[in-house]
Amino acid sequence: MTPFSLAPSISELPALARRRRVYLFVVAAGTILVFVGGLVAGPSDLYLHYVSPVLVLLGLVDLWWLWTRRPLYVAEYAGYAVLAAATMFHVALLSLLPVPSGIYPNSGPYWTLICTCIVGFLALPPQRAWWFNLTLLSVCLLVPWLTHSAYAFGHPALFLRLQGSVMIVTVLLGTMAALRTQMDETDRSEQRMRALAFTDSLTGLPNRRAVYPAVEDLLADHRRGVPGTLHLIDIDHFKHINDEHGHDVGDQVLMEVARLLSTCDTLPGTAPPTVGRWGGEEFIVVMPGTDRTRSRTRASVLLQEFRLASWPYGLKVTVSIGSSTVETEDIFSSLLSRADQALYRAKDAGRDQMMLDQEA
Ligand code: GH3
Ligand code: MG
Ligand code: MG
Repeated sequence: MTPFSLAPSISELPALARRRRVYLFVVAAGTILVFVGGLVAGPSDLYLHYVSPVLVLLGLVDLWWLWTRRPLYVAEYAGYAVLAAATMFHVALLSLLPVPSGIYPNSGPYWTLICTCIVGFLALPPQRAWWFNLTLLSVCLLVPWLTHSAYAFGHPALFLRLQGSVMIVTVLLGTMAALRTQMDETDRSEQRMRALAFTDSLTGLPNRRAVYPAVEDLLADHRRGVPGTLHLIDIDHFKHINDEHGHDVGDQVLMEVARLLSTCDTLPGTAPPTVGRWGGEEFIVVMPGTDRTRSRTRASVLLQEFRLASWPYGLKVTVSIGSSTVETEDIFSSLLSRADQALYRAKDAGRDQMMLDQEA
């Protein structure tokens, strides 16, 4: 795994949005299916007669909302409100209308209640979902009793059992949702910590620790016959910049250097280069698929880019580059040590130039 793969995983927002779109699609498809089911089942009762058209409308609007990529939260709140209203309407209808005696209590609204609670826990912010769902649950549990309805009192024991089951399922759903939220939060803070631990805070580049795997990959590539090179890049006379213009200007130069290095091209058919801050005013570029000839060309282009770039306060900023290309016997330390020696030679030879590890 190269360090660059760390960055996209920091934010899981796209994944969350995808998940919410799937939930909304399922709700939309579900409401339309309920309507179609009602049509197939034949003449509808009073509840289906009034509520089905609303539900199918909700489903169609949700689908259109998804299709046109409008803000999801509007559809989520509206969907929850419509489902909650439909559930309460059903409970009220069964509580207020006479229910023929001897008929087992209709569990329909309580199924819808559970579905609505699921939508709440999936789509709304966790705390709000708890409050909304608890309110909905309380209304639906109490109304049949408070209205002295035959719905509740016809078979009180059976009805209590039904309501008890609904309560248990809802509380279990809420607990699962809370656990899920907690796990998501732990995941996110772990990712944030990882990102911080592997990123240089000034330049935003991967830090030294984050570049190690890319160097290991370079060594592994060589065992498969793929060449690989790394450049150690050190800013020339950087201390003067700090001394003459201050640390802030020095920081600006470091950021600009990082930006310039990050524009390093990917060679066709190779993995992208990894650019990192090696420490202080030293940077590293790990280039898979690059042999010595290509390495020299890349370094020459880079040196020229630095000479031509415009720097803060009209400064002239140059760099020296030490390059090492992977050899058969190489291990991590030998590869880096050759680049370091080459860098020292580039400095000794007058700076603003590159040295390969094979050059004397
Ligand atoms: P050479 O051409 O030989 O590389 O000379 P140099 O002046 O670039 O090298 P030297 O090692 O003497 O100085 C490096 C300076 O980089 C010293 C240090 O204060 C400065 N430096 C290291 N990290 C930072 C940083 O994050 N911000 C700023 N502004 N300066 C830094
Ligand atoms: Mg240095
Ligand atoms: Mg330097």
